[in-house]
Amino acid sequence: MSIAQNVKSYLQAIAGGNCFGEPVTLVAATKTRTPEEINEAIAAGITDIGENKVQEFRDKFDLIKGGNRHFIGHLQTNKIKYLVGKTYLLQSLDRDELAEELSKRCVRANVTQDVLIEVNIGCEESKSGYPLEAAWAAYERIRRTNGLRVRGFMAMLPLAGDDAAKATLVDEMRALFDRARREDENIRFLSMGMSGDWELCLGHGANMIRLGTALFGERHAPAFA
Ligand SMILES: *Cc1c(COP(=O)(O)O)cnc(C)c1O
Repeated sequence: MSIAQNVKSYLQAIAGGNCFGEPVTLVAATKTRTPEEINEAIAAGITDIGENKVQEFRDKFDLIKGGNRHFIGHLQTNKIKYLVGKTYLLQSLDRDELAEELSKRCVRANVTQDVLIEVNIGCEESKSGYPLEAAWAAYERIRRTNGLRVRGFMAMLPLAGDDAAKATLVDEMRALFDRARREDENIRFLSMGMSGDWELCLGHGANMIRLGTALFGERHAPAFA
């Protein structure tokens, strides 16, 4: 199947929304993909794309035609300057130090950056993000931080574990999302779901998924550029 065919079939698969009937945003995870591949996906209907690495975000920025540009990877504070003013949604706000530095940059540039708070839902050493127990306090702090606007939460399910255990983790994230949404109209997105687990995530209340290999096939070995 071509990229265009994959895009069309996934857009069709999510057209009915999540388990609550809410519209679902499909973000194409574009790490290692060439601008040509990404443009093919956009031409086929992809509206949102997410990069993991600042280098790739920058190198491809002007070569990609359209699309809301998300950043979904771990961000070092010394690279914030390359993203401010260019990033539609920073999904990986994973620590206070990043929130503080990002705030300074945004205030200086007179922009408001939409962010998702990243939660390390599986308590995995290898992943970043706030522990679930700390996520509410982080949300309350960050929503009061100048230059930042919290739009929801992002998490990655652990690879290990059975579907029931994973479903419980999505349910816990959805409870956090609902709690915030009840008092904050800016809260819109629960970004959970990758190529291997997107159906499970949509079945438990995620409304944004990030697909890489499902759309583009196996990742290219060396990163683009
Ligand atoms: C690579 C990546 C994805 C997509 O992963 P696939 O398994 O290829 O669909 C989603 N989210 C993040 C943060 C990623 O780094």
